[in-house]
Amino acid sequence: MNSSPAQQTHTSAAPTTDFDVLIVGAGVSGIGCAYHLQTEQPGKSYVILEGREATGGTWDLFRYPGIRSDSDLHTFGYEFKPWRNEKAIADGPAILDYVRETAAENGIERHIRLGHRVESASWSSDDARWTVRARRGAGGEPVEFTCAWLFAAGGYYRYDEGYTPHFDGTERFQGQIVHPQHWPEDLDYAGKRVIVIGSGATAVTLVPAMTDRAAHVTMLQRSPSYVVSVPERDPIANALKRVLPAQRAYALTRRKNIWLQKTFYSLSRSRPELVKRLLRAGARRHLPEGFAVDTHFKPRYNPWDQRLCAVPDADLFDALSSGRASIVTDTIETFTERGIRLAAGGELEADIIVTATGLNMLAFGGVELSVDGEPVELSKRLAYKATMLSDVPNFAFAVGYTNSSWTLKVDIVCEYLGRVLAYMDEHGYEQCVPRCDDPDMPTRPLLDFGAGYVQRSVHEFPRQGTRLPWSMAMSYAQDVKNLRHGPIEDPALHFSRRAPVAEAARAPVLAA
Ligand SMILES: Cc1cc2nc3c(=O)[nH]c(=O)nc-3n(C[C@H](O)[C@H](O)[C@H](O)COP(=O)(O)OP(=O)(O)OC[C@H]3O[C@@H](n4cnc5c(N)ncnc54)[C@H](O)[C@@H]3O)c2cc1C
Repeated sequence: MNSSPAQQTHTSAAPTTDFDVLIVGAGVSGIGCAYHLQTEQPGKSYVILEGREATGGTWDLFRYPGIRSDSDLHTFGYEFKPWRNEKAIADGPAILDYVRETAAENGIERHIRLGHRVESASWSSDDARWTVRARRGAGGEPVEFTCAWLFAAGGYYRYDEGYTPHFDGTERFQGQIVHPQHWPEDLDYAGKRVIVIGSGATAVTLVPAMTDRAAHVTMLQRSPSYVVSVPERDPIANALKRVLPAQRAYALTRRKNIWLQKTFYSLSRSRPELVKRLLRAGARRHLPEGFAVDTHFKPRYNPWDQRLCAVPDADLFDALSSGRASIVTDTIETFTERGIRLAAGGELEADIIVTATGLNMLAFGGVELSVDGEPVELSKRLAYKATMLSDVPNFAFAVGYTNSSWTLKVDIVCEYLGRVLAYMDEHGYEQCVPRCDDPDMPTRPLLDFGAGYVQRSVHEFPRQGTRLPWSMAMSYAQDVKNLRHGPIEDPALHFSRRAPVAEAARAPVLAA
């Protein structure tokens, strides 16, 4: 499943090191960006530098049992490439195949250089170019590239280490402790008692998936999340596929699902009590009579203050109903030799403990940016249209939605970038930089989301303003209007051939 011709491109890499566009990361975003770039700007040269030895990002990294999306693939997939699989909520390997197929069938693979971890990028206004420094291969050999535009598609979390909070007594535990981000290939959990710590998307995926072989799986959460059952197969999508050409059927399903996501999100914000009741009723319907629904599935926050957990065809509820899995909502006092002692009293015994406790967020793949020798402090920069940074020239990034499919946004961001490049060519510009002329505008975090993993590191990310173009819409309809159809010209976006300051600085030298 995980072999890819892209993995060979590393050795046959072209020696060129100067490009029009350099993309950091060959995940779903980086490959999508490459597609747009080569389709809409066929004359531009580009390279994708990928730090790992494989493409696919998230969908290659995570290998835990049951790994799947919680978005439907009709909105998570690229607009230009129909999702043909019968399952709308898809398994990780199917998503990985889809991303790699996109790279293969569009000739993107030969532009990817694997094993190139980008560490820093410095912009020179004199040259109107980025110098990008990376480390290649296991030996970490330093390599340097130059480019006119830099596109950060490195995702939003650290690849080398998942997040585990401190738990007392972990050293005492006689069994095995596993983090889902570093799943041991040979982990045998057949007949074992498993505790999964967590209440997010990973925990609700793992629990039903592990009941196939484990003796018993306990989901241990400190506080509940909203869990909603969604159909794994979309009957409308599959019916449309049978009667319409693939692209047309895909476009209609995509539109339907975008509308559904938007409507449900808007209703959650405007009528949270109603949505809470609906979610509770949904959980009750799938759980046995007398199940403590409110203890385990009634969070303290409103729906969509944090991402909802989607479970395909109620698989988590089925696992709990069958008795092969159970759920405990309590605080961990300490790990013990045999398992976990709970604050409310009692001990859960286990052979394996899975810490599905989340990710460590990391902005732009950890690439250190500087402009004319000055380091860019991300927390002091504003995101322009949620795709560029204030006072950072020729730089764009892929950060998607947190209230619907991440990639919906990334797709139109890539389109927008293509339009900016075309505009610059048309006018002979070499530099494009957003500048905010209102230092008093109130700001808030770029990812304005309650989830713990966002809150832990949101201060290391750029911020957003309170009005366009400095605010992040979180609305596909609004982004289509602004990014796809809105004008490129904007008082906040400054274009030039070379930075005026650099021109002025050079002038006396030229005169002499
Ligand atoms: C288990 C899991 C399930 C998810 N399910 C969904 C879902 O259903 N729906 C949804 O919308 N979102 C989901 N997400 C979020 C998901 O990560 C994104 O939607 C999407 O896959 C992100 O794609 P990306 O290409 O932007 O980033 P990634 O998939 O993270 O890919 C980034 C790539 O950049 C590379 N990279 C990073 N830094 C550097 C560097 N410095 N130099 C070179 N290369 C670098 C990485 O190695 C990686 O290959 C999920 C996340 C996880 C962890």
